[in-house]
Amino acid sequence: MIYLKTDEEIELLRISNQLVAKTLAEVAKFIEPGVSTEKLNDVAEQFIRDNGGVPGFLGYSGFPKSICTSVNDQVVHGIPSEKVILQDGDIISVDCGVYKNGFHGDSAYTFCVGDVHPETIALLKATKESLYKGIEQAQDGKRIGDVGAAIQNYCEERGYSVVREMIGHGVGRNLHEAPEVPNYGRRGNGIMLKSGMTIAIEPMINLGKRQLVFEKDGWTTHTIDNKVSAHFEHSIAIRRGKADILSSFEYIEQVLGNKAN
Ligand code: MG
Ligand code: MG
Repeated sequence: MIYLKTDEEIELLRISNQLVAKTLAEVAKFIEPGVSTEKLNDVAEQFIRDNGGVPGFLGYSGFPKSICTSVNDQVVHGIPSEKVILQDGDIISVDCGVYKNGFHGDSAYTFCVGDVHPETIALLKATKESLYKGIEQAQDGKRIGDVGAAIQNYCEERGYSVVREMIGHGVGRNLHEAPEVPNYGRRGNGIMLKSGMTIAIEPMINLGKRQLVFEKDGWTTHTIDNKVSAHFEHSIAIRRGKADILSSFEYIEQVLGNKAN
């Protein structure tokens, strides 16, 4: 069952997603060689609570932490740990959820740690761009397959592969609700999109093979060939016929811009 949201509900979703965006920006300030993913988790959890939210992932299906931190060949759902120390040249995907006013925010960004190989930087750029290609298709009257096809075509044309085991989803009063939003598909296929739908679009794109390995911790996934993987996610509403992005990368990219200077 797909819950269509009113304008008022969409504004509450925007509040939750804007707090996710600001939390990811706060985390961005701490991403550097030598920092543990546990520290990033603590920064995120404190920031969310200081701003009147609850970490949306903490305890979700038993997930033990407030953010997912997936390093290098890890695709998604990495568990923050004191033992995972970021090294120069790593990439780290940080996925964050906030629950506030009865609604969930959900967004993810993949960061570079120090000097990263140009081939990896190109993957990050393409993955983020493919997210926007998907968002462009999220319009009244289009179909879910149009979103997936746009992402898949953009990435495969560049020689990357699209993860199949994990996909985007509806988002609202539940962190995950209908419909499913695959990052692959055929144009004109799948359910029809309409105003009031709120979905998280989240391409997970691999430099090498698309297949994943599920690790013994029950959460972490990594690529079968141990090549790097990127993940970017926005929560969006279809509003007045078009995509309205509820989360934001603006705060993150301000932090990254300041770091570069
Ligand atoms: Mg997410
Ligand atoms: Mg999600």
